[in-house]
This record gives sequence, structure tokens and C-alpha cells, in this order.
Amino acid sequence: MRLRILGCSGGIGGANHTTAFLLNESVLIDAGTGLQALSLQEMLDIDHVFLTHAHFDHIACLPMLIDSVIGLRRYRPLYLHASTETLAILREHVFNWRIWPDFSLLPDESIAFLRYCPHEVGETREAAACRITALPARHTVPAVGFCLDSGNSSLVYSGDTVGCADFWDAVNAIGGLSTLIIETAFPDSEQGLAHASKHLCPATLQRELAHLERSAQILITHLKPADSDLIMQEIAAAGLPVRRLLAGETIEF
Ligand SMILES: [Zn+2]
Ligand SMILES: [Zn+2]
Repeated sequence: MRLRILGCSGGIGGANHTTAFLLNESVLIDAGTGLQALSLQEMLDIDHVFLTHAHFDHIACLPMLIDSVIGLRRYRPLYLHASTETLAILREHVFNWRIWPDFSLLPDESIAFLRYCPHEVGETREAAACRITALPARHTVPAVGFCLDSGNSSLVYSGDTVGCADFWDAVNAIGGLSTLIIETAFPDSEQGLAHASKHLCPATLQRELAHLERSAQILITHLKPADSDLIMQEIAAAGLPVRRLLAGETIEF
């Protein structure tokens, strides 16, 4: 099973694009601006989108993805998996006919282009032969992480989260954990901002990783572009056994 990293930055500018991961060919995990790395044909092959939460950096390209594939005469639905709370936020604030049409009602509800699929914490859903479980997370809005179980091993993606004991309990219960992708958005000098926005900085990453009881490769994502080198220097100074996740790389698991 392959996870292709389309974007993994905490912002945009130059080669930086926000979170979007492609699982095999047909499952998208978050729909940030990294989605623009895909060709129209590759976008057409996406059948499922799983969202960690409704923040703009994770959904920015979702409205236009739907519109673009409909323009390619795609008539099978796109399934949008997220918590009930996240789906409600998207329906109220994005797919509300003012920002963008509600494609769950187009061309009519029985043959709609977009299907909302509530996917709650602890629930496992199979897509592209992968078992995808929503994990607890704690952020400023309702959020989840994901465990992707290929049958060979499991990859965990934290989403945006900080200080969530339930997340670590869930991660430590995964027998075949091979990879943990975890965010560190801010440098230590912005610890106040990180705390207020419920993101990690190197000091809090170190505290979080102390809860991990499994050995796995640990990849750092969601670095703010202006401070990405500084954040990685601070993480290296702390001696943490991690590396930076890179856009364009593919992780096999
Ligand atoms: Zn967020
Ligand atoms: Zn984010």
C-alpha cells in the first residue's frame, strides 16, 4: 500500500502546499492545496476523501476537486468521510450555495455527485483495500487522526492535534505500527501561539512523543513555511529520532 505525499506544509508559497495525501490511487486523506500536484485524470480516479477536520488548509481544494471531476463527465459519486461535526461545518460554511453549491443535492439527491459519510472516532471503514480508523484528536475544532491498516502494517497520521491522551492510548494499541506522521507547526519561540491554536512546537512534540510506546519511523509534518528549517533544527537539538516528511515522497506500508 502506498501513501503519496502531495502536500505536507503548514502554508503555501513556492513549493509549499498544504496537507493532501493520496492512498493508492482512489483515496484522498485531507484535501489541502497539495492536491494540485495531481493531473485531471488522477483526480478523476479519487472515489473517497477522508478529512481530519474542517480547517481551510485541509479542505482548500475539495470544492474545486468536485467541480473539476464533474466537468470531466464523472457521474459516479465522491464519498466524503468525516465526523458528523466536521460534515455539519462544511455544509453550513462551504457547501451552502453561497461559497459553493451543495453537490450532495446535485443533479438531484438520488444521484448526487457528493455523498456525506459520517465517520466517527473508533469507527473503521474499508477503502482501496485499506482499513481506515478515525482516531481521537484534540484541536480548536472537532478533529480526528487516522490509522491506515494495510494488512501488513499500520500508518498513523495525527492530523492537527495536541495533548490528547486518548490519541496515544489508541496508537499504543496498534500492534503493527510502522509509521507515525505527526505535526509540528510552530518553533518554540511561538509556543504561546502553538498553545492557543492547539498545534505542537518542538518542546511539546517531545512531551507528546514520550507517550509513544511503539517503535516506528516518525515523520514531521505541517511546518509553517517561514520557520520550517528552524523547527527542524530545534527538533534535532532535542535529539528526537524523527525526520521531516517531504512532499513528493511515497511511503509504503
Ligand atoms: Zn487545524
Ligand atoms: Zn492544519
